[in-house]
Amino acid sequence: MYLFYTMRTMHLYKYLLLAGIALLSCACSGPRTINDVLMKPGVSLQLAELRKQEITGLKYKLSFRIPEQKSEEVSGEVVLDFSIDRNKISKTHGFGGLLLDCRISADKIRLVRANGKEIKGQVVNEHIIIPESAVRKGSNQIVIQFIAEDQSLNRNDEYLYTLLVPDRARTLFPCFEQPDLKAEFTLQLEVPARWTAVSNTAIREEKVTDNRKTIFFAPTEPLSTYLFSFVAGLLNRTEHSEGGRTIAAYHRETDPNKLAQLDTIFHQVFASLKWMEEYTGIPYPFAKYDLIILPGFQYGGMEHTGATLYNDRRMFLDEHPTPDEELGRTQLIAHETAHMWFGDLVTMAWFNDVWTKEVFANYFAASITEPLFPKVNYRLTNLRTFNAASLGEDRTPGTTAIRQPLDNLGNAGLIYGQIIYNKAPIVMEKLVELMGKEAYQSGIRAYLKTYAYGNATWDDLIAILDSKTDADLKLFSEVWVNQKGMPEIDTELIGNRLMVRQRDPLGRGISWPQRFMVTLCGEKESVVEINLTDSLLEVPLDFYPDYVLPNTDGRGYGRFLLSGKAANHTLANWSAEKNEVTRLSLLMTIYENYLAKHLPTSVVADALIKGLPLEKNPLIASAVIGYLSSCADELDGDARSLIEQKMYALSQTHSLPSSRQQLFRAVNSLVVSPEVIQSLYGVWEKGKSELLSERDFMTLSYELALRMPDKSQAILARQRERITNPDRIREFEFIARALDPDTAKLDKLFQSLLIPANRRMEPWTQSVLYYLNHPLREDHSVKYIRPALEALTDVQRTGDIFFPRGWVGALLGGHRSPAAYNEVQRFLSEHPDYQPLLKNKILQAAYPLFRRNEK
Ligand SMILES: [Zn+2]
Repeated sequence: MYLFYTMRTMHLYKYLLLAGIALLSCACSGPRTINDVLMKPGVSLQLAELRKQEITGLKYKLSFRIPEQKSEEVSGEVVLDFSIDRNKISKTHGFGGLLLDCRISADKIRLVRANGKEIKGQVVNEHIIIPESAVRKGSNQIVIQFIAEDQSLNRNDEYLYTLLVPDRARTLFPCFEQPDLKAEFTLQLEVPARWTAVSNTAIREEKVTDNRKTIFFAPTEPLSTYLFSFVAGLLNRTEHSEGGRTIAAYHRETDPNKLAQLDTIFHQVFASLKWMEEYTGIPYPFAKYDLIILPGFQYGGMEHTGATLYNDRRMFLDEHPTPDEELGRTQLIAHETAHMWFGDLVTMAWFNDVWTKEVFANYFAASITEPLFPKVNYRLTNLRTFNAASLGEDRTPGTTAIRQPLDNLGNAGLIYGQIIYNKAPIVMEKLVELMGKEAYQSGIRAYLKTYAYGNATWDDLIAILDSKTDADLKLFSEVWVNQKGMPEIDTELIGNRLMVRQRDPLGRGISWPQRFMVTLCGEKESVVEINLTDSLLEVPLDFYPDYVLPNTDGRGYGRFLLSGKAANHTLANWSAEKNEVTRLSLLMTIYENYLAKHLPTSVVADALIKGLPLEKNPLIASAVIGYLSSCADELDGDARSLIEQKMYALSQTHSLPSSRQQLFRAVNSLVVSPEVIQSLYGVWEKGKSELLSERDFMTLSYELALRMPDKSQAILARQRERITNPDRIREFEFIARALDPDTAKLDKLFQSLLIPANRRMEPWTQSVLYYLNHPLREDHSVKYIRPALEALTDVQRTGDIFFPRGWVGALLGGHRSPAAYNEVQRFLSEHPDYQPLLKNKILQAAYPLFRRNEK
């Protein structure tokens, strides 16, 4: 290792001396020079590792000047103070200089001063090079003045917010962008005098001069760059105190019914904080806790210490929220709050382990939520939340391991997905089962204590947990964490013996160790626990059962195959199954077997619509409605009309309000039958319904405009008049452009999305792309597939982390035709070296299209 670096570093040293900094951008002598490795755009793992060895005591002093108009530039200054171990540099970094990360264009860098000396600061491949002559052993100070890029400032007319996760800090200010160089941040903001600002820490001082205001924030605890954030603008503030602690919510909501929900939100934040403090034995580790609820926020939430950002639609629920939505909000609050310990206090060393913070956030969120909704069945909720979502990605050819290699921070956003968020908690549950709850909690406490305000890897955590148990955690982790995919599990009865087999569909011969229950049915019914450790388990029985229902406790994870008898029994009797977890687990198994084409669509659809009126559990009903929609989408002609009519009829009569609402929404997005379209139009015309929210009416107007082209302008104009909130009007006007019947206008709209500035409001952009590629426009929109896929790398580079997935999902979600299938295949074959993480996003989104067009 040592020699490898030394040889390569010599190249860079020579370049710096002979050719000067400017040459670096083109001075590659081949793929093995340090130039290539360290100077890659983004932050290469090698660069991060080298800097981690040489830099300590890092502090950022940041100041930004924010103009009132979003068209004007945001200027800033960063002062970096840190210490360098020069001896280590000569062995590692070699040339003695330093690379700062900077994705600000070169002409916006106004001044670079290193240790009091002005230097010519060049930006090359997203780095500013500080030459050897300008740095020294011991303490160093670098000052840079710049114009910030707008990319991560999320600028709107009356407010802006930064969102730097996972690797966008360098678009806002030059820095060392890697999670294991934690630093103290001291922020100063100059904003219009009537604006409010929030950041990670409390405000120490405010000075107002004329119509401007300068705000001084207290220094932060040690933070990774991705956790630094500020929000500024016209915001309302509501405060709430409980148990001697005060937190504030900042928001832009105007609807009094929505604002009334703040009490619930505060209560849940406090409950989450208390739960985490008790479980971890560590008091909330940061100075303050505020939340900011933002319209159009890209994610559900983001756990900036002291300034957690939330999406307004997830927090302020529409009228008549479904139990899913209420539970989802609580889970979101609990998730972000759990991050304060897992992610913020102890942070992954590199983003390949980002799942370690997400798994804890989701795993603990489930436990935190439990006492807040005592009537909810949590095994059922977890099955519905984690397993269903995880299977959704794991069954596709684009699935990944929980832990994925990451060569460059620039690709960190692509690591995120259902596997990290939802498979990881399932695996964590299995880990807890393996080692026992108490040993696990004691391991978690030791882990937090050992690495507080620092960084840790998954291996660091496993080493601590391993010391608390006799179980083989390393083997467990290798299969469940490091390998992708899931088992296919089959049961067979041979006389009075039960054979349980697992198969690795990817042909690697992997066996996933796990436990689950099966129910044996015949002359009597008997439940047996299966402890599957190998590819085959043989269980002797004391009777001769007729058939086996697998995974009836929902603890097992994988694709469970059903025998003909078991499938027939389940289809006919699912709604009569009394145990809710068993009922949902069997429905999930039916759905997997249907997707695997073992069961015909019409048979499954019939069985679901027959049982649905009897379903009294809203979570199960919501799953059934989802499965039913997926089946209905595959039916044509009379069969399709019939199922739509049944679904619509049930949307008027089902005993659960949430099911009526969900059925209505499902029909709204599916409908092709003229009678049902007329009925929906009748509902929309009234403009009021005890079950539907303003947003439902917005969606209804989009869907009707598509199906009633002669009325589309009138429908959209009327709907526009109905909306009062200015942020919602902007959203509506943005999306409604995609409902124009004029195809030339649609083509132009599509072209506009290929320009990054036109897709900044990502959730709205996704809606536009979805409507442009709506199933009813499939023929016209096949031509959008190719350019939109070509744009995906640009979407990744310029957008936020979930946007590539959202983009390709909106693009392909409505397509089922062979022509669309061929377009995707052609794109993939013409790009054999496509970035693998990004290719996975395409393969995941294309699953329904592939499934429809492949045998
Ligand atoms: Zn999270």
